[in-house]
Amino acid sequence: MSLFTAVEMAPRDPILGLNEQFASDTNPNKVNLGVGVYFDDNGKLPLLQCVQTAEKALMAQPTARGYLPIDGIAAYDNAVKALVFGADSEPVTSGRVATIQAIGGTGGLKVGADFLKKVSPDAKVLISDPSWENHRAIFQNAGFQVDSYAYYDAAKRGVNFEGMLASLNAAAAGTIVVLHACCHNPTGYDLTAEQWDQVIAVVKAKNLTAFLDMAYQGFGEGIAEDGAVIGKFVAAGLDILVSTSFSKSFSLYGERVGALSVVAKDAEEAKRVLSQLKIAIRTNYSNPPIHGGAVVTAVLTNPELRALWEKELGEMRVRIKAMRQKLVDGLKAAGVQQDMSFITTQVGMFSYSGLSKDQMVRLRSEFGVYGTDTGRMCVAALNSKNIDYVCQAIAKVI
Ligand code: PMP
Repeated sequence: MSLFTAVEMAPRDPILGLNEQFASDTNPNKVNLGVGVYFDDNGKLPLLQCVQTAEKALMAQPTARGYLPIDGIAAYDNAVKALVFGADSEPVTSGRVATIQAIGGTGGLKVGADFLKKVSPDAKVLISDPSWENHRAIFQNAGFQVDSYAYYDAAKRGVNFEGMLASLNAAAAGTIVVLHACCHNPTGYDLTAEQWDQVIAVVKAKNLTAFLDMAYQGFGEGIAEDGAVIGKFVAAGLDILVSTSFSKSFSLYGERVGALSVVAKDAEEAKRVLSQLKIAIRTNYSNPPIHGGAVVTAVLTNPELRALWEKELGEMRVRIKAMRQKLVDGLKAAGVQQDMSFITTQVGMFSYSGLSKDQMVRLRSEFGVYGTDTGRMCVAALNSKNIDYVCQAIAKVI
């Protein structure tokens, strides 16, 4: 008997589990479309030029590594505010946004969840059906009851917008609604600008709390285009939370760079909010690490590096779109009868392919093509070398 005798084995993380299976697969043609990571056309994880240049400059002036303030690098927090809301936007200039540097987008969500649990302990949380796996777990572990709102319409291959509005309309006042600001994970289907307006109207009328998760800004239509939804919520006078991730947009996955921004009523309220966010940080991990935040600050605040980042991010976005088109064309050429053009209406890293669990299992076991059992495939991992093979494989299981 030990203290841990009764500890149960937790289920494996479905995506990381796939990675392990992929690593031990001996098929020489294997392709990993499971994990949400962008690879370049050579199948390599990119190290962006803007990041390399910023790192060289940082290395040229070695600095001692004291603790950062609890809320991170001040210049970083300001750069995030400028990126997410606009440097000259009213909430930023009036000082009513509280922003903290977070450990990735996940850290931003967790700090936000802990904060909200103190502010509205009895609120329920709604996440999209389906959503990124970790949304439910993060909010449940912060003590919330988590339900879902309708989102994906498999038959229509798109958003079940009527269902979504109905779910939101039925929610109790104060309910926290986690929304994907752009590039919905896992489906790839986003709301139109008009649909966002309708969602905002319901959030306002029903007094719901919107928590916008922005993990892919710049991967959809562009940095400003993807971020526009935030401005819409602000213009509607709503107090929102926004989590930011730079994992994908800077290809800095392992540096864990993200943020949380909370829009308050006025500057005085934002100060009080910030003080509570700091408590959440302090009791979780005390303060954030330096390197990733310093790199992103250097890039975002230097006009040349900023332009280079926008160019490199644009190239990633364009390459993903090209792969979507190649996938549609390749599937047709491989003999797939059904219309697969929905793949090009989806945005971001993922495609909900509509393939069944059985088909996904066959793709894996017979062809070494790895996606999730839900049919999600990472189109950002397709390239000019593996696309034909993937199309042939999909054609054989459809
Ligand atoms: N939100 C969504 C929707 C995501 O897809 C991800 C990353 N897969 C995150 C948040 C977390 O981002 P990070 O890796 O920066 O913690």
